[in-house]
Amino acid sequence: AQSALEAIAARHELNAFLHVDPELTLAQARAADAALANGQAGPLAGIPIAHKDVFVTRGWRTTAASAMLKDYVSPFDATVVERLAAAGAVTLGKLNCDEFAMGSSNENSAYGPVLNPWDTAAVPGGSSGGSAAAVAAGLAVGATATDTGGSIRQPASLCGVSGIKPTYGTVSRYGMIAYGSSLDQGGPIARHARDLLELLDPITGFDERDSTSLERCGAEPNAPGRVRAAFDAFAARAQGDKPLAGLRIGIPREFFGAGLADDVRMAIETALQQFEALGARRVDISLPRTELSIPAYYVIAPAEASSNLSRYDGVRYGHRAAQYRDLADMTSRSRAEGFGLEVQRRILTGTYVLSHGYYDAYYLQAQKVRRLVADDFQKALRDQCDVIVGPVSPTVAWNLGEKTDDPVAMYLADIYTLSLNLAGLPGVSIPCGFGLGPVHGQRPVGLQIIGNYFDEGRLLGIADIFQ
Ligand code: GLN
Repeated sequence: AQSALEAIAARHELNAFLHVDPELTLAQARAADAALANGQAGPLAGIPIAHKDVFVTRGWRTTAASAMLKDYVSPFDATVVERLAAAGAVTLGKLNCDEFAMGSSNENSAYGPVLNPWDTAAVPGGSSGGSAAAVAAGLAVGATATDTGGSIRQPASLCGVSGIKPTYGTVSRYGMIAYGSSLDQGGPIARHARDLLELLDPITGFDERDSTSLERCGAEPNAPGRVRAAFDAFAARAQGDKPLAGLRIGIPREFFGAGLADDVRMAIETALQQFEALGARRVDISLPRTELSIPAYYVIAPAEASSNLSRYDGVRYGHRAAQYRDLADMTSRSRAEGFGLEVQRRILTGTYVLSHGYYDAYYLQAQKVRRLVADDFQKALRDQCDVIVGPVSPTVAWNLGEKTDDPVAMYLADIYTLSLNLAGLPGVSIPCGFGLGPVHGQRPVGLQIIGNYFDEGRLLGIADIFQ
């Protein structure tokens, strides 16, 4: 923890951390030392990690990278935070991200962008850019993150580290500041699949304080130990020089269309050849509704966001305008001052698509598309393949400022990640080589492995063999 704190200070320019508090961190580290000394240590005793600033933490500020929550301190810990602390992990601080997790480049933070440690002219991806950059720069062993439409997988990909978005409902959302509640899922970012396993297994499990938390994952209870058992079972079978023999990997045609950059395509193709060398078999599949996932997501996510963010009214939480005429004016000024432009854009979109007369045309239609997207995956996974493999992002990390004037260009970059959230499926992102940066040379490429519901253990097992 001590050396991590020094590293964080030394890489201050990355802007990965929003809050550090060495006293709090070192007190937790001393407690872990004591637990280790008297034989009571949890599995993560002393491991230094950090939390995306949308997980509420007692004793630390939680801002969601918004001016709205500038000085907010939660009276309780998020379930994910509580479970990692109970396992002995030490908190290094709170990580920068896009405001309320809305974005793909971490440029929407009210506290400035995060820089990509591979090339500080590049974005780290988003919204969990601080989580990915901190791990990539070696400032933390692992980090928590959240994925509403790609925010674990895409920054992991752009920063050359690993991340997993679990099946919706398997990790508690209690204390995770809500963006799109039917899409949001927390999970870890770390260097390697084995580290992801160590961080994911203890946070997996039913939580009665989250109404969408699952009690069961198919035949098994949703509980710690489930992911590890599946990982171990997979690893025990995957032996010899063809450990992936018999595994059918679906290659969705729609993930390799015209929008995919050549350098990313080449890195993914090389990875697919490695999969074949390990014994896996490629199967061409189709996910025909992939393109529709962008408009469907960018209706549903803002709709839910507009509802979730109505709690920031200047009365109960966060920023309140200094001057106002009456109650309504107080609320609207507080929100105009407290929310950044992208957050305001989402709230306006959301209230529009939910309003009388437009609800059927937009929101209801998007929900129907959502079902079709989920059906595409089920058809492929039932009839043709065991897992689905493709890119995470159509390009390597772009330059800071390159897409900030064009929100739609930013939304299009989410093409390969959004559909999993619409379907609730798990996906892992692992590094698989490099593409070409425009100025400074190489930038990382990530590979996405998508499984069926509750397949986290197997996905990490496959990722581990590949890595
Ligand atoms: N880029 C997507 C958005 O802006 C996804 C963000 C996320 O997963 N939190 O909504």
